[in-house]
Amino acid sequence: MRYSLILWDFDGTLADTLPGLLQIFNDLAPEFGLRPIVDVQAIRDASPVQWLRQQGISLWKLPALRNAIVHRQEGQMAEIRLFPGIGDVLERLNACGYRLGIVSSNSENNIRTCLQANSAEQWFELVVGYSHLLGKQRALRQVLRRTKLKGHEVLYVGDEQRDITAARRAGIDAAAVTWGINTHTLLAHHSPSRMVDRPDQLLDWLEP
Ligand SMILES: [Mg+2]
Repeated sequence: MRYSLILWDFDGTLADTLPGLLQIFNDLAPEFGLRPIVDVQAIRDASPVQWLRQQGISLWKLPALRNAIVHRQEGQMAEIRLFPGIGDVLERLNACGYRLGIVSSNSENNIRTCLQANSAEQWFELVVGYSHLLGKQRALRQVLRRTKLKGHEVLYVGDEQRDITAARRAGIDAAAVTWGINTHTLLAHHSPSRMVDRPDQLLDWLEP
């Protein structure tokens, strides 16, 4: 097998949290002095920096904004569904002998609530919720140290440009899924190891 550990982003990759996140963001916008999201398509094609600018988000507001979003998401998590087909993919990858984990800027508590509601918690040996929206690269490096794995033994699966960038900086291959936030065009422009339009394509690629 090419990889021993497959790490997943959570929001927009495993779980369909985006409609709820959009509502939460717009509810919080007045309190944080942000521009509400009116054109979802414009977000899907925006890089992280462009998106922060579009919504009027200063870097210093990010930690408080992340915490407020995660806190408000708590009430939604038990109702959130994994994307269709994801549960089967996790089960089969696990059966093939892949170790599975999650690295996300959501909270471990939120993620586990959703996994439990979808009977999927048992597939993951680790769930890492880091607290800074731009801290993915550091969190991935910490997982490498914790698991004593080399970067080439690990794959990161995510739905955003920043997922590809963070994985690459941590020395990890990235697969980009196109059912989440960013568009196929934007993701392909950043040359992930694989573009994935349907969950079962991961099995075509990774099953030995
Ligand atoms: Mg995501």
